[in-house]
Amino acid sequence: MPRPIRASINLEALRHNYLFAKNRSGNAKAFAVVKANAYGHGLENAIAAFGDIADGFALLDIAEARRLREAGLQQPIALLEGFFEPADLAEVLELGLTPAIHGEAQLKMLERARPQAPLDVLLKINSGMNRLGFTADNFGAALARLQSLPCVRFITPMTHFARADDEVGIAGQLSVFRSLTGGLGMPVSLANSAALLRFPEAAGQITRPGIILYGGSPMPAQQTAEAIGLRPVMTLSSEIIGTQSIRAGDKVGYGGTFTADGPMRIGTVACGYADGYPRHAPTGTPILVGGRRTRVLGRVSMDMLACDLTHLEEAGVGTPVTLWGDGLAADEVATAAGTISYELFCALAPRVPVQVKGLSR
Ligand SMILES: *Cc1c(COP(=O)(O)O)cnc(C)c1O
Repeated sequence: MPRPIRASINLEALRHNYLFAKNRSGNAKAFAVVKANAYGHGLENAIAAFGDIADGFALLDIAEARRLREAGLQQPIALLEGFFEPADLAEVLELGLTPAIHGEAQLKMLERARPQAPLDVLLKINSGMNRLGFTADNFGAALARLQSLPCVRFITPMTHFARADDEVGIAGQLSVFRSLTGGLGMPVSLANSAALLRFPEAAGQITRPGIILYGGSPMPAQQTAEAIGLRPVMTLSSEIIGTQSIRAGDKVGYGGTFTADGPMRIGTVACGYADGYPRHAPTGTPILVGGRRTRVLGRVSMDMLACDLTHLEEAGVGTPVTLWGDGLAADEVATAAGTISYELFCALAPRVPVQVKGLSR
């Protein structure tokens, strides 16, 4: 028998979440952000869940874009980092992709290659995140150079918000963006998940929801995924494979970081950091055993972690455990571990078998 750990991916929930994002986008198109193998959920699962209804897709790798095209999808596919070298351009054109043009190097590549086929591009503006994009100093010139290239068809200015999820919000970045694009009358692409939820008025014509598709909240401290109306997509589960009874003063796990202050029963779960569970999840991180909440104890090992069964008399070897997903929000586990659900999802290890719950239609 293989180790009892598995991840299940619920396609119905994934479809529900895309439809939620699309609905939130109003008249704008919602490009599903499926980078990083659909945030660890499997690109093919994303295709199966919403490939037929998505307005478009956004990702990073040309190889991933090719998988979408090979699945027969004809919608626009945005390359959020654009292309990296001149040789990429041929594939971009062959696959009909929409690259972001975010810097001088890419503009030069395009000007040198002067491709024949029509090319749609996103013109990235650095409105304050200072990661990628043109600024007030060079945006106008970049736009003019793109417009003078016969191969370039549609140009969609875009920007990315650094603080759509917190108290600072988007106003400052939006005003920078608007000052550069306001008079152009061009469609624009602005909102990530947090902006879509909090500032729908700034959706633009193309939204780029990511985490909400996968049932994570972009701002879990303010609003849980459930309160937003999202459904969990990935459930990571395993089983108790051993138990120990310990006494006051006994310690648990590597480094002995947890000390019992009375008699306790410990459950050992077949899940560790080599499965993608965060090693830095401290004692107290929530976990479900037999559907009941308890807590992780001590340090997470490579292949196992310990949890508290002291008040769960019925739990023993073989009792099912949920690490996150149905019944326990990934956001809660992430917050306890000092990270975000994005990282938990993306870190799911290749050694964990994935079970797909299909669409009921
Ligand atoms: C990842 C990404 C998104 C999606 O962000 P979420 O917070 O997951 O909604 C949107 N736009 C760009 C440019 C991104 O890199």
